[in-house]
Amino acid sequence: MTEPILYVDDLTMHYTTRAGDVSAVDNVSFTLTKGESLGLVGESGCGKTSVAICLLKLLPDNARIKGGHIYLDGVDLVPLSEEQVRRYRWRRISMIFQAAMNSLNPVYKVGDQIVEAMETHLENFSYPAAREKVAELFRLVGLDPALMEQYPHEYSGGMRQRAVIAMALACDPDIIIADEPTTALDVIVQDRILKELRAIQQKLNMGMIYISHDIAVIAEVSDCVGVMYAGRLVEKACTEEIFHHPIHPYTAGLMSAFPSIVGPKRELTMLPGEPPDLLNPPPGCRFHPRCPYATEICREQVPEFKDYGGDHFAACWHPLEG
Ligand code: SF4
Repeated sequence: MTEPILYVDDLTMHYTTRAGDVSAVDNVSFTLTKGESLGLVGESGCGKTSVAICLLKLLPDNARIKGGHIYLDGVDLVPLSEEQVRRYRWRRISMIFQAAMNSLNPVYKVGDQIVEAMETHLENFSYPAAREKVAELFRLVGLDPALMEQYPHEYSGGMRQRAVIAMALACDPDIIIADEPTTALDVIVQDRILKELRAIQQKLNMGMIYISHDIAVIAEVSDCVGVMYAGRLVEKACTEEIFHHPIHPYTAGLMSAFPSIVGPKRELTMLPGEPPDLLNPPPGCRFHPRCPYATEICREQVPEFKDYGGDHFAACWHPLEG
């Protein structure tokens, strides 16, 4: 079995607000191996982006990692100082943020912005080598290197998104986190960029964590899928397995809410209710107020994240069969 490059162990993170502590990430554990793509899926507010910002330790002032470990090649990032973490951020783990294409500086040429990012993060920076590298990255993401001399407003949305992907790859990271990177684009461009990002990740043999609320998108880009609900990881398995044999009722509910592009036509079913308020999450299984199978034990005790064989894990007192 391949050794994981990333091992997230019992990660717990809270936001402090005036109303109290928000339990945004609760005992989340998973691994990622070199060349593997893990999709994190769940409704908005389920903790996917909070997990990502923990991995980069880019936490806002009111957020604290309350417990757990983030091992990157055996080094735990959690206790490291900001200065120590900077050796890993962007160089070992980088991220494409939601709507990042709008964060390009409008008054700088796009190529110069990427070179500048490399200058900030690389120890052995050389200007000519960086220019050459950016040209190579532009070709990799499907942009003409001549576009390095143009400004963001001269790019289309799809071109800006490609430039942002090139920027995230500039320091040759081992792991890239992509947080809903294509949501601002039309579906055709979105599909093309998704396929290209997946091809680049495989070509460079990087680990990738792809975050989306859309389970169909996750199916397209992931080898494995982790389903999050109300700050907890409730199911994880390889993509084929989870789509054919979901164990957790929330996973099954998510799938019924999205159309399948490959399967037979079927009626879509909305998940009833709303995700819980994480200021005061429900006891036991956090999904119980919305779950049609909930019983007394679900309302009282947190289900264990159990191994169902074949690398298929789920946290449910009454797992679905077949
Ligand atoms: Fe539903 Fe109970 Fe399973 Fe939670 S533990 S998903 S409430 S059956």
